[in-house]
Amino acid sequence: MIDLHCHSLHSDGTDTPEGIALLGDEARLTALCLTDHDTLGGIPAFLAMQPEVAVRLLVGTELSCRFLGRSLHVLGLLVDPANAQFQARLEELRGRRGDRNRRMVARLAELGCPITLEDVQAHANTPLLSRVHFALALAARGFVRRAPEAFERLIGDDCPGFVPREELSPAEATRWIRDAGGVPVVAHPGRFAGGGFRWEEAMADLQRQGMEGLEGYYGEYRAAEQKYFVALAARLGMVVTGGSDYHGAHKPGLRLGRGAGGLKVPDELLERLETQQRLGTYR
Ligand code: AMP
Ligand code: MN
Ligand code: MN
Ligand code: MN
Repeated sequence: MIDLHCHSLHSDGTDTPEGIALLGDEARLTALCLTDHDTLGGIPAFLAMQPEVAVRLLVGTELSCRFLGRSLHVLGLLVDPANAQFQARLEELRGRRGDRNRRMVARLAELGCPITLEDVQAHANTPLLSRVHFALALAARGFVRRAPEAFERLIGDDCPGFVPREELSPAEATRWIRDAGGVPVVAHPGRFAGGGFRWEEAMADLQRQGMEGLEGYYGEYRAAEQKYFVALAARLGMVVTGGSDYHGAHKPGLRLGRGAGGLKVPDELLERLETQQRLGTYR
């Protein structure tokens, strides 16, 4: 059993990278990939745990891009953490995130919820501030009763206090990941669009833009979704990956390697992913 998608406190999770490596070991995973948003900041500490654990520790990240007017998440699996160009590109993304955060503070003040970036920073163990930290700050200041309410009323994707980041195009995201030696994979496609969405065409379009895999196993999928996306990947000749999207206390109910319950990502997927990394897609 493997888990190729999780977050530490270097992005919007709550566990240290060291803690995540130990959790993966306790869960008896064969391999575990850390995929913090827009950063490889947790990777050195994560990889430093390798001598102490049996689980194979792998490098990844999760980027956001703009597709059909909405945010599409892309995993960059097996990227090279020593690639200076990729590190610089991630830094640029974090700069865009910082701009967005400053604008979101201004927008929330206009909506009668004045919080400061320092309030938000007080709820994060990392300089990378995301909306989970905004939600905690809004709750601490009493503008919402609890953090989930902040997403419902203020900072969820369709809410008045949300300011989108300047996102990559899918083609840019896949090029950045490939340039860094990684495999670009569409994260949790089932979360991007509801039932009835024409995935066949959309995913083929993404594939033409360089996507090589999709997340067919996911911590929050229903059995039918897993079946659908695994079959879709087979039809399109894309690799299948899978993971819990564990965020620690910021996303309660998910466990590393287990998701919300019966998640079981087969070991063989990693072998196919590594073959894909080496050979790429011949067209
Ligand atoms: P950001 O990258 O700053 O836009 O924040 C995105 C993060 O906020 C996601 O990775 C989730 O962890 C969290 N998030 C987004 N929407 C929701 C929601 N509706 N409920 C709870 N958490 C959410
Ligand atoms: Mn997240
Ligand atoms: Mn995601
Ligand atoms: Mn994620």
